[in-house]
Amino acid sequence: MTKVRFRNLGVKNQDLKSKLLKAVEEVLDHGQWMLGPEVGAFEEYVAGECGRRHAIGVGSGTVALYLALKSLGIGHGDEVITTPLSWVATLNAITLTGATPVFVDIREDFNIDETLIRAAISSKTKALLPVHMMGKMCQMEPIVQLAKEYDLHLVEDAAQAFGAKIEQGAAGSFGTLGCFSMNPMKTLAAVGEAGVIVTDSDELAEDLFKRRYLGALGGNCQAPELNGKIDTLQAAMLLVLKDVLHEKLERSFAIARLYSQELDGLVVCPEVRNREHVFLSYTVLTEHREQLNKYLNQKGVESKIQYPLLMPEQDAYRGQYELNTPVAKRCAAQMLSLPNQDGMSLEEAQFVVEKVKEFFKS
Ligand SMILES: *Cc1c(COP(=O)(O)O)cnc(C)c1O
Repeated sequence: MTKVRFRNLGVKNQDLKSKLLKAVEEVLDHGQWMLGPEVGAFEEYVAGECGRRHAIGVGSGTVALYLALKSLGIGHGDEVITTPLSWVATLNAITLTGATPVFVDIREDFNIDETLIRAAISSKTKALLPVHMMGKMCQMEPIVQLAKEYDLHLVEDAAQAFGAKIEQGAAGSFGTLGCFSMNPMKTLAAVGEAGVIVTDSDELAEDLFKRRYLGALGGNCQAPELNGKIDTLQAAMLLVLKDVLHEKLERSFAIARLYSQELDGLVVCPEVRNREHVFLSYTVLTEHREQLNKYLNQKGVESKIQYPLLMPEQDAYRGQYELNTPVAKRCAAQMLSLPNQDGMSLEEAQFVVEKVKEFFKS
């Protein structure tokens, strides 16, 4: 029997539930179901959180990334530098524009190794696309410097990192464009699909407001796109759910701190520093990944191998790209995510700790 679930979706808090129902009711009543007033309000909130001039609500994080690249004019013959370790949405967004991905190896914290980017830049490089994996932010300062030095666009895949902030700024505030997902597995989670793009550029924002709607806002198509608008109902519910985000991040942070205190040495634990990053997932490295995962699952702890394959190793891409990324390869073989969702108590986290310790004793 599963005692500690990996993710625990569903609204358990009755107060929150009635607020959500009220938000839905308001949308049902006002009837502006496409790009209703909640969309603008949600965009304003996201722009404010990220310290940016504009936010453009879209249907998903994948749409956000794809349209971001399209609005920068990226396509056939262009190269986009990214990491091999991400949810495949990152790679699909690049390849669907027609551009070629170039993979740079990662650090042990699962983010792109900023020291290896320079060597991957060619005359065809148009953009850097770092991914803030698990909510941990990339080393943004050197990445921003490289983008400036080589006159490249910088697009942040911040799908996993809404709410993460380092001293220099929030996730999504560093790039030409920052992309978020609000799907149910992310930090700020909708009751379905949603995404946002943020930017300081008036021109790009205007272009993106068109692109999310067939490129045809105003009834005159300038750039053929699919329909990628954010849903008004989701925006309305996100405006309620944003009020519990902080609490949720604090809980997963507290669990992460406990895990790292208790488990460091047995497994390679992520570094836990105050407010440096959020813990969408708490992912450790261990050579005994398969056995530990099986053991925990048997003992009622729903641990997960979230990224069994690097993006370019998946069927659609296998053999297409030269991959010289040994750290990413090793991480993909050793990563295991422990449950750290906000519905969990610290006692349950302690239970997970004990089961991991038990495994390593036996
Ligand atoms: C979830 C995710 C996406 C895609 O977001 P969707 O809203 O599911 O389309 C993109 N990149 C990363 C890193 C993600 O984790």
